[in-house]
Amino acid sequence: MKWGFIVALCAVCAVAFTPAALAKEPKIKEWSKMEKNDKGELKEVFYMTIDGIMVHETDPKIVPPPPIVTPAPPGEPIPAPSDAVVLFDGKDLSKWTSTKEGQETKWILVDGAMSPVKDSGYIRTKGEFGSCQLHVEFATPVHVEGDGQGRGNSGVFLPGGYEVQVLDSYNNVTYFDGQCAALYGRKPPLANACRKPGEWQTYDIVYHRPIFKGKKVVRKARFTVIHNGVLVQDNVELTGGTGWRGPHSISKYVPHGDKGPIQLQDHGNPVLFRNIWVRELKD
Ligand code: MG
Repeated sequence: MKWGFIVALCAVCAVAFTPAALAKEPKIKEWSKMEKNDKGELKEVFYMTIDGIMVHETDPKIVPPPPIVTPAPPGEPIPAPSDAVVLFDGKDLSKWTSTKEGQETKWILVDGAMSPVKDSGYIRTKGEFGSCQLHVEFATPVHVEGDGQGRGNSGVFLPGGYEVQVLDSYNNVTYFDGQCAALYGRKPPLANACRKPGEWQTYDIVYHRPIFKGKKVVRKARFTVIHNGVLVQDNVELTGGTGWRGPHSISKYVPHGDKGPIQLQDHGNPVLFRNIWVRELKD
C-alpha cells in the first residue's frame, strides 16, 4: 500500500515536471470590430493579443527591437551530411512542384539558385516530412526595392504550414514578429542577424511537429532557428498558426497530418534560394 502510494506520487511528479508541463500556457485574447477599409467598405477586422501583446506590434516601447548582431561573412554552400535528403542542389527543380493543384512550378533556375517569378505562386516539395532539421540558403535581392514587408519577402514553411519569415531586414524596420527569422505573427527573433541584400544567408531550423487529437492540439510545434550562425529562436513553443488574419491577428492551429511538404513563399520579390537539405527527426 505504502509503496503503491510512493510509485503513484513519483508518476505524478514525473508528469508535472516535464518541460512540456512547465511551459506556461499563453494568454490569448481575441475580438473583432466592424471597420471601414480603404475602399470605404465595412469589414470585420480581427484582433489578437498573445500574453498582452498585440499581434504585429510595432511600438518598440512594448516590444524591444531584436538587437542587431553582425554575423560572420557569407561563405560557400554548407554541404549536406550523409543522411540528409537533398531538396535542391542548384541543378533542377525535380523535387519541387507548385502548391496549385496539378500545376508545374514556374520558379526558375538562376545561376545554380532558384527564384520565383511574377505570379508564380508558392512552391512545395513533392516529398513529405514530419519533424525535421532543415538547412536553407537564401539571398534577398541586391537591388533594394520597397520597404517593410515589401522588401525581399519570402518564407520557409515547415510541414503543416508554419512560416519562418524570410525578409530583407537589413536597415528595414517592420513589425517585430514579421521581420527576418520571425515565426511569423507569433515570435520575433532573438536577434537581427541579417546579412546585406544580395549576400547568401543560412537558416538551420529544428522543427518538431505538433500533435493533434481530433481538433485539439495536444503537443504544440517547437522551433529552434539559427540564422547565419546566430541563435534566433531558442526551442520556442509555437502558440498557434502563422497565417495572415488581418493586420493584428494570426491564424490558429488547424489539425493536419503527421507529415507534409516543405514550402517556399512567392511574395512578389525575387528572393534566391540554393542548397536546401533536410534530415528527418524522431518526434
Ligand atoms: Mg513571408
